[in-house]
Amino acid sequence: MDPKHLLKGLICTGLSLALVMTPVSVLAQPVGLPSLGASSSSELSPALERTLGDAIMEQGRHDPDYIADLDINQYLTQLGRRLAAQAPQTIDQRITVFPVRDPRINAFALPGGYIGINSGMIVSSGTESELAGVLAHEIGHVMQRHIARGIAQQSQGTGIMVATLVGALLAALAGQGDLAMGVATFGQAAAIDRQLGFSRSAEQEADRAGFQMARKAGFDVRGMVTMFQRLSTASRLNEGTGGGGYASTHPLSIQRMSDIENRVRETPVQAHEDSAAYWFARSHLAIIQARDMNDRQRVRLSLQRDAQNERGVRRAAAWYGLALLAWEKKDYAGVRTALDEAAKDAQAPQLDMLAVKLQQRTQPAQAQVAAQAAWARWPDSQGMAVTLAQAMQAVRQDKQVVAFLQARIKQWPEVSEFKKLLADSYERLGERVQAHLAMADYYEQTGALPTAVELLQQARQLDGDFYTQSEIDMRVRALRDRMDDKRALLEQFKS
Ligand SMILES: [Zn+2]
Repeated sequence: MDPKHLLKGLICTGLSLALVMTPVSVLAQPVGLPSLGASSSSELSPALERTLGDAIMEQGRHDPDYIADLDINQYLTQLGRRLAAQAPQTIDQRITVFPVRDPRINAFALPGGYIGINSGMIVSSGTESELAGVLAHEIGHVMQRHIARGIAQQSQGTGIMVATLVGALLAALAGQGDLAMGVATFGQAAAIDRQLGFSRSAEQEADRAGFQMARKAGFDVRGMVTMFQRLSTASRLNEGTGGGGYASTHPLSIQRMSDIENRVRETPVQAHEDSAAYWFARSHLAIIQARDMNDRQRVRLSLQRDAQNERGVRRAAAWYGLALLAWEKKDYAGVRTALDEAAKDAQAPQLDMLAVKLQQRTQPAQAQVAAQAAWARWPDSQGMAVTLAQAMQAVRQDKQVVAFLQARIKQWPEVSEFKKLLADSYERLGERVQAHLAMADYYEQTGALPTAVELLQQARQLDGDFYTQSEIDMRVRALRDRMDDKRALLEQFKS
């Protein structure tokens, strides 16, 4: 995320230029974080930090560069939580990792345990252990509460960025254009992360904690060294073009590098076998991040090379990428060929998902049967669950879809996608009140609280039943309370 991005958001919302541009001059100046023993007034409580993070993410999900791919998101978040489970001390935030469409090698932590990873970071990594190393470092910052302390300090002093961001969040809460506001919010949130910077000692603390997490989670810690070498090369290359890379928020010193190298030397070598999910996500992100025809052609050539020269999951992932490119071009014979080639080396939910979509075009009934079988093979895949729901909807099995989705919502309450699909099926079944209620759930979960209230009020008018109406009234009251609480919490940040 760079000032250009910030500017894009600025144009959309027409915020005062001076207000937002001022902090840019202090960008990348490391903030001396207060010590752990600092007075509690200079810290953000974990609950407040989470609320702020939630508010940023609710808006940030509308950012065009936010990658909303259930499959990739699930992989990254699972990887993050697997690392966090090995943290040397308790982490008071639940880790959620999301990818951002940006070719530059960068990663950033937001309040509330949210960690953004640029697509470029994943595409340029050479092994899963390298990715795990960077992620573990970010989790180290979350564990040490560096973000919370930095933000608290910013909002007390020259926290113009925080005040601007909170202003945008409050406006969104008042229902003033969720979408346009979202574009600004995410850029601003990332800019705050850049503005905070981290001191050298904070970096070393995060390295130490990250190293331990990566090792205990079974990754090859040599990956951490390789990734830092890549990062420092990339930052040197970026310097001429105004920087803005990883090194501006996470200073890479010689001291830091040799610390990690020493630690690696003292640790027995531990090989790690990359997961198929890592390589599949990497192929997919290379395509998502390609913005024009030239980029796409470059990705295609590199995937073709890998399909020829690599083996095992790497070969399968290359063919998967080629299948996705063929799908985009509506070259359905090409998709079939690529999927068959991929299947020679790996079984993966991603392959089955695409195969179902392919079959759905011509044989929806058979595709539904295939989707059921694939779901039985991959009961842990959220993407597969969505694929099955859609395959059932295609053959008008909406009653079954409702039961299936209700079970999935219990299993994965954090996945909002299921609620939208549920509303679709209710709508087709003619159950308009239920459809409105499911859609209200969806908006509530994604943070568009005013829209959720509106839908509930519409649902109330559709149903004359006294009990349904009083239930709806209760929900509206609860939502209004939530909006009040959120407003009160956010007001605390306004200086
Ligand atoms: Zn760092």
